Amino acid sequence: MALPRREWLKTVATATFGTVGFPLLDRVHGQTRPSDAKAAQPLALKDYEPKSMLHVPETHVPRSRFPNIDFHTHLSWVDRKGKADVVQHTTTPAEALKVMDAKNIRIMVNLTGGYGPLLEETIRHWQQPHPDRFIVFTEPWYAKITMPNYAKFQGEQIQAAKKAGARGLKILKTLGLYLRENVTTGPLVKVDDKRFDEMWEAAGALDMPVAIHVSDPEAFFLPTDRFNERYEELSAHPDWSFHGKDYPSNAELQEARNRVMQRHPRTKFVCLHTADSENLPYVSECLDRYPNMYVDIAARIGELGRQPRMSRKFFDKYQDRILFATDATPHGDETPQQIFGNELYEIYYRFLETEDEYFDYAPARIPPQGRWRIYGIGLPDEILKKVYYENAARLLGL
Ligand SMILES: [Zn+2]
Repeated sequence: MALPRREWLKTVATATFGTVGFPLLDRVHGQTRPSDAKAAQPLALKDYEPKSMLHVPETHVPRSRFPNIDFHTHLSWVDRKGKADVVQHTTTPAEALKVMDAKNIRIMVNLTGGYGPLLEETIRHWQQPHPDRFIVFTEPWYAKITMPNYAKFQGEQIQAAKKAGARGLKILKTLGLYLRENVTTGPLVKVDDKRFDEMWEAAGALDMPVAIHVSDPEAFFLPTDRFNERYEELSAHPDWSFHGKDYPSNAELQEARNRVMQRHPRTKFVCLHTADSENLPYVSECLDRYPNMYVDIAARIGELGRQPRMSRKFFDKYQDRILFATDATPHGDETPQQIFGNELYEIYYRFLETEDEYFDYAPARIPPQGRWRIYGIGLPDEILKKVYYENAARLLGL
């Protein structure tokens, strides 16, 4: 038999305040009774899975209202762990196309296409057989940073990548947070290091948009303690923390990226993950200051959806500069908010198209980025068309 609610609360209070062994006052009957030490086991945070009791509309959105371009996916990546770098494909074109056709995804942009011969292989696998469905970006060849002429070399690599078929340039957060003077040792290389100037310029001259990920959620720069809203996420992935050591702050990283955008006005920068999704007033300032700046929403509907009124205004004002994107990674078990599949896209469509309230932002047992839920922003058709397709199509020259 279930405990009456009042009794249950008392056993919880016992566990919390450590009064096990003391008689409890039963306020209803004015009597004391012995506490039940066995029932007083505290519930571990990881086992807590509260179910919402709200009775609110639940809209199922199986397909996006208009065809879309997913501007931010990882269909392949470069494995640098062995003796030689190799390309790993996370799925096959046939498997990806099944989901794409079911979910109304016209094109997937595979950002992590690699460099040199690895890029050529990625293009052969994805873009060549389906040029109207898959687009591949290139990445800098960071291992060559120790070369005396790296700046020139990296600029030329962008031209070679364009010739090979790459449509844009991807910068992982490696720049600013991992890449060091001797690749893995020495001081960190700054985002606005001059050795990349020729690369930014070449991308602009060749009409290749730069998809740039700089910094990470603000909580990743704070101690992983009881005040940290991403405590569970950081506890599961301690290596995602940039607290202490020689890491720059989030603000320093954002400002270094801004200096790059200012120095290269001809180059178009898509700041991934909404640039700084927890601080939309700051992102708005940046968008006002740099006309060559755009943003995508990949892996950040958890942030945008918990501030739905601010987000809705943001989409209104910057409707020509926001790109639909998910950060989809086939079989990405470590990051439930990115697992490529039907469920992932349905959540994004629900966020953008409906005014549903308080739903999960990721297909996961426990919200993986923080224990909260999100609200849809019900965008009108005009804005949906731009965000889903037109803005990305313009940048990609389609
Ligand atoms: Zn990504």
